[in-house]
Amino acid sequence: MLRLTALKETFRRRPVEVNAPSTKISDYFGELVFNNETMRQYMSKEAYESVMDSVNRGVKLNRKMANQVASAMKAWAMSKDATHYTHWFQPLTGRTAEKHDAFYTPTEDGRSFETFNGEQLVQQEPDASSFPSGGIRNTFEARGYTAWDPSSPAFIIGQTLCIPTIFVSYTGESLDYKAPLIKSLQAIDKAATDVCQYFDKNISKVTATLGWEQEYFLVDSALFTARPDLVLTGRTLFGHSSSKGQQLDDHYFGSIPDRVTAFMHDFEQESLRLGIPVTTRHNEVAPNQFECAPVFEECNLAVDHNQLLMDVMEKVAHRHNFRVLLHEKPFAGMNGSGKHNNWSLGTNSSKHKNLLAPGKTPKENIRFLTFLVNTIKAVHENADLLRATIASAGNDHRLGANEAPPAILSIFIGSQLTKVLNDLEKSVTGEALSPDQKTELKLNIGKIPQILLDNTDRNRTSPFAFTGNKFEFRAVGSTANCANPMIALNAAVAKQLQEFKGEVDGLIAKGVKKDEAILNILRDYIKVSKPVLFEGNGYSDEWVEEAKKRGLHNVNGTAHALDFLVEDKVKDLYEQLNIMNNREVDSRYEINLEEYHMKIQIESRVMADMALNHMIPVALKYQKGMIESVKGLKDIFEADFKEHAGDHIAIIEEISSRVKAIRRLVYDMIDERKVANKLTSPKEQAVAYGDKVRPYFDKIRYEVDKLELIIDNNDWPWPKYRELLFTR
Ligand code: ADP
Ligand code: MG
Repeated sequence: MLRLTALKETFRRRPVEVNAPSTKISDYFGELVFNNETMRQYMSKEAYESVMDSVNRGVKLNRKMANQVASAMKAWAMSKDATHYTHWFQPLTGRTAEKHDAFYTPTEDGRSFETFNGEQLVQQEPDASSFPSGGIRNTFEARGYTAWDPSSPAFIIGQTLCIPTIFVSYTGESLDYKAPLIKSLQAIDKAATDVCQYFDKNISKVTATLGWEQEYFLVDSALFTARPDLVLTGRTLFGHSSSKGQQLDDHYFGSIPDRVTAFMHDFEQESLRLGIPVTTRHNEVAPNQFECAPVFEECNLAVDHNQLLMDVMEKVAHRHNFRVLLHEKPFAGMNGSGKHNNWSLGTNSSKHKNLLAPGKTPKENIRFLTFLVNTIKAVHENADLLRATIASAGNDHRLGANEAPPAILSIFIGSQLTKVLNDLEKSVTGEALSPDQKTELKLNIGKIPQILLDNTDRNRTSPFAFTGNKFEFRAVGSTANCANPMIALNAAVAKQLQEFKGEVDGLIAKGVKKDEAILNILRDYIKVSKPVLFEGNGYSDEWVEEAKKRGLHNVNGTAHALDFLVEDKVKDLYEQLNIMNNREVDSRYEINLEEYHMKIQIESRVMADMALNHMIPVALKYQKGMIESVKGLKDIFEADFKEHAGDHIAIIEEISSRVKAIRRLVYDMIDERKVANKLTSPKEQAVAYGDKVRPYFDKIRYEVDKLELIIDNNDWPWPKYRELLFTR
């Protein structure tokens, strides 16, 4: 049996030896990246500067420069033994995609011609018909193309030079996450830079920063392969909980098993060579669960690095006979996996780089409060959109389900900052302030940094928390592309900052002093944004009640949450900021719905297959053995046999009734699938799959998991939870 063979294989495993390229990380950090330093080395000053111009100011590279950059890239890549190049992009489903081409193609006369120049660098036409486009490509152009994103450096994987690109249709509509992300970053740069002028005229650029934390599980690859559900859906659809789960927390402090340590070293080194500034952490919550977090970076680069890291992780895991589970909920009853998105804004001036960090002076703290309060207001007003951007079949198991964070979007800022905001609300009255009042206000505002330093408030139940100098969006799913929530957050805050600037300028035009104008507007914002601030236990039932009273939405289920994506308000937001037009928004909505329905469809099929073709035969076989026993007992004990065969008979009956239930439930589920498949609108289909098909999962699982408790361990077909979670 596959399970037992797999188990035997895992017992023989030894840690795979990993040799560090060097003892000093700086010797190999970024060695596979065409970064600034390498660019300077391989390119003329002129070419280098034009790349920098296009990075910093979006200036288009001319053909001559593009050719120079391409040949420099090629020379560098070939010096690292690369033979091919590819445009690397992030289609709307799936993780990353690429199409490989050789640098040179041999000709018949034994020579070769070059296939990589400026044009190939800047633009390429992947065979894109297989990527989702939500109707855009079908109705207009049949093709899309990829275009170089100079703000994210090229890198080498294996023997391929990977060039980060955006993916757009010939009609110019984006078919990926990166294009709108870059536009959202431009929008927030502009809006935040404008607001920064109130505080520091030298600031000419603001970048959004992202530091993600990636949670994941590791399981042995032999055990993984023995479970069709893990192979096909990334999560276990069946499995009784292990006698020992995560309740003891001993794994939390326990030493990391050697095999895992070897994997971590290896994957860390690979990541560092690719310039991903990872620092692996070992604070797993569930057994075999781990987390990794790099130092934060500019948002676009951080997104690319997260996409890349997930690929690297999977590749390296193979070498160590592990499989990485990135799914949001691989194991029922265990902690799930998220991807915390730590977000902030940084300036290009030497002073106060982080706009969400308090400063040393009252003036700096007014700046801090400005960005803090505007972000709070933006999140409050766009909570539904943010909720929609983290909706997925996998994340449905976390949000508002067995495990928090809840599907209600609230912000935690800690009791100290709450007090600061309350004080500000009280002391700024809208009337002109007396000199004494002003002094007191300034004094209070000046105290913020000390307050925050002492602030040890940590509320793990909040989906969106202020953590001292950044916001942490914790409800993002572990498989998600960070770009999706980041586009929404950047857009929401950009729009909010524009509005703020307009209102403050309005007051200044009426003769109000700048600081007072700012504080007055902030006071108004604090007032209207209050409902989104919540300091209590986000996992509690009281919060669900309370949130309802406050008018905060609590939408469970992706098929419903996605509706927020296409509200007029959202379309206007993206349109006004030139991030996405209505058709792009609509197409994303459609793609997300389809992805959701397909995920549930696959899970449902796998479940039916495992139940009917694996479980029931195993159960009936075991039952047959029982029947033989009963017959044997009857032969021996004749009329008295029942005295001895009572438990056998009970088991036979239980198996019969569970098998019957499983068959009935599976066939009913299949009927619901047939109904769903006949529906024509993506929305209706997603709802049918979510609300009609999915509810069968728990019911079928319940019966199968009960069988696990009675059937002979030696006959059980799939690696059990204890084997998946505690085999190291
Ligand atoms: P936690 O307590 O959530 O485990 P930390 O406070 O150690 O985490 O930091 C979490 C993440 O926040 C790290 O990945 C770090 O890079 C990121 N981070 C720190 N400062 C910023 C910032 N200014 N912008 C974005 N991310 C940041
Ligand atoms: Mg965190």
